[in-house]
Amino acid sequence: MNTQEVMGLYDQFVIGNYGRLPRAIVRGEGNYLYDAEGNKILDMFPGWAVSGIGHCHPHVVEAIRKQAGELLHIDNTFYIPQQAQLAKLVSERGFGGKCFFCNSGAEANEAALKLARRHTKPEKYKFITAERSFHGRTFATVTATAQPKYHEGFLPLLPGFSYVPFNDIDALQEAFTDEVAAVMIEPIQGEGGIHPATPEYMHAIRELCDAHGAMMILDEVQTGMGRTGRWFGYQHYDVVPDILTLAKALGGGVAIGAMMARPQVAASLVPGTHASTFGGNPLACAAGVAVVEAIESEHLLENASAMGDYAVEKINQLKAKYPLIDHVRGKGLMIGIQLTEAGAAIVAACLERGLRINCTQGNVLRIMPSMTVTKDQIDEAMSILDQALVVQGTGS
Ligand SMILES: *Cc1c(COP(=O)(O)O)cnc(C)c1O
Repeated sequence: MNTQEVMGLYDQFVIGNYGRLPRAIVRGEGNYLYDAEGNKILDMFPGWAVSGIGHCHPHVVEAIRKQAGELLHIDNTFYIPQQAQLAKLVSERGFGGKCFFCNSGAEANEAALKLARRHTKPEKYKFITAERSFHGRTFATVTATAQPKYHEGFLPLLPGFSYVPFNDIDALQEAFTDEVAAVMIEPIQGEGGIHPATPEYMHAIRELCDAHGAMMILDEVQTGMGRTGRWFGYQHYDVVPDILTLAKALGGGVAIGAMMARPQVAASLVPGTHASTFGGNPLACAAGVAVVEAIESEHLLENASAMGDYAVEKINQLKAKYPLIDHVRGKGLMIGIQLTEAGAAIVAACLERGLRINCTQGNVLRIMPSMTVTKDQIDEAMSILDQALVVQGTGS
């Protein structure tokens, strides 16, 4: 099937709830994609941050192949060795929490919200989240997502949520009551446009949660698993959460989500309180184990930091050339280019020239390459972006 034929079937048979780029993708290898016409695309936004160590990483593919031949699925009525192994790896690289596995970011956040209510005193039921946040699309997580555009047509939402401006300590203090069960925050807002939390803000959340007996939940679905140059985004701050959520890059392309909670907090999820049929299955967990192994054996945390710095340096060279670029922000390989106008045309112009990037919030270009990205690939991306800016972005 060529792209046109695939698009025709979509028109007839697939619900149109995504704005899609006009390419059918049939293969991925490392930092490159191939479409049905055989065009090669440099991928600087692999799988929406899912393919965090590149497409079809050989070590992950090998682990999946091996696991598929042994056992694809077994339910959580039994013990699953791969789940135990992955939990240990994630816990030891984080804050020694215990893990619950599910299949997506939204599910991980659902689990976190439920655990916060379950663990705290009965009168505590409220959640505070930040404006511009993104936490998922299920009813609880879309309610947590403090962006009105995602709420449209779905009212009434779940009760008990209040929203505060991000990085505003006074507003947080004001919103805090003894009815608050948890604050949920992204250490770096991703979909919201790559906005890092300030150290002062992270400390204020920790102190207010402690003072009121509330849980500090960090949504690390996008920042987790090394993208920022550390295993978890919170490790850039001198603060430890009670609950942390993961998904996206955790499985190297296989669907998996996780919630990690301090052991004392985790103890509240006794049998019968929460579950997921597919959660922590052998295939997904074997992939997760392989992801952690690859990140360590290939020193990808170090590469994410170094390549992130290099990309920002190159973007700043473009900024000197194009007034359209206001500034660049981010951490490691989580990079946002703030434009002074809309960025959709630049994304399209890049794709035509063989480069995939993303635009969020209308005017923030998101560059989030895999942790295996090389200097040459960043150079290639920057040269294509340069061409796209000449054509689309001069504003003249
Ligand atoms: C993508 C994302 C989610 C939702 O994950 P899904 O797997 O799509 O449910 C939640 N939080 C953050 C920060 C994300 O980036």
